[in-house]
Amino acid sequence: MSHGPLDDDAVESYREAGAVLVEAMNEARDMVEPGRSQLEVAEWVEDFVREQGAGLAFPVNLSVDAEASHATPGRDDDATFGEEMVCLDIGVHVDGYIADAAVTVDHTGTTELVEAAEMALEAAVDEAGPGVPVGVVGNAIEEVIRGYGYTPVLNLSGHGVERYDAHTEPNVPNRGVDRSVALEPGQVVAIEPFATDGRGKVGEGTDEEIYELERQRSVRDRRARQALEEIETFEGLPFAARWLSGDRVGMALRRLKQANVVKGYPVLKEADDTLVSQAEHTLVITDDGVEVTTEGIHGFD
Ligand code: MN
Ligand code: MN
Repeated sequence: MSHGPLDDDAVESYREAGAVLVEAMNEARDMVEPGRSQLEVAEWVEDFVREQGAGLAFPVNLSVDAEASHATPGRDDDATFGEEMVCLDIGVHVDGYIADAAVTVDHTGTTELVEAAEMALEAAVDEAGPGVPVGVVGNAIEEVIRGYGYTPVLNLSGHGVERYDAHTEPNVPNRGVDRSVALEPGQVVAIEPFATDGRGKVGEGTDEEIYELERQRSVRDRRARQALEEIETFEGLPFAARWLSGDRVGMALRRLKQANVVKGYPVLKEADDTLVSQAEHTLVITDDGVEVTTEGIHGFD
């Protein structure tokens, strides 16, 4: 797919989304501390974003210890943070134009694992630009993380974003493969190295709190139909089960999944007793370089 230059309004919306995200992130990262409610932090971020007149590109992800991605609190979830490593991943959109960024908050004393992901992201941002193969970016990520003695999570990768679409081409790997695809001016990409002391391959856990509309089709069940009407207001972006109102939400979602109307995103995690860190920025690829729209959350900005 070829990309023309982004129009000025689109670029401005990408910047606005980034600015809201950075403000939310810098408050929320300090709220992630032992004893604090996970649900409270997620809802604080989501309320803040909406109060700014922006939207959520996906539910706040709070992935703990071996979890890498797709974890978010359930409704009435009473889990609190402990002495843990937490990947805090936020997605904001303005008029459908998305900013996606993540930081890792460490309360385990494993500072170098966090630093590995952050330094890998810095190296990747330095490398990225028009005409640069995605594998060259991935190689920079892999080299930094392995240099720390850790392993990149090889089956997770960065991705493009487009209007109201949080995951598009190109795939930006966390390893030095795929040199056939190059970054193009006008693309917007989220680069997200994950580092782990595990084997570097996440699998699907049993928890599932994030869903996405897969295709419109009529459903017979009345409760499922009600839920679908609410889901349609999310514009095709991922949503949390806890965002749906009324009772029997779990049943409605099961029905909609069975009918292939929605798909679920199970939590992705490494093996037990390992840790995963993540760092992420969103970048506009320009004619002569990159513009980081989520600048101001990582130390190297
Ligand atoms: Mn993200
Ligand atoms: Mn992402």
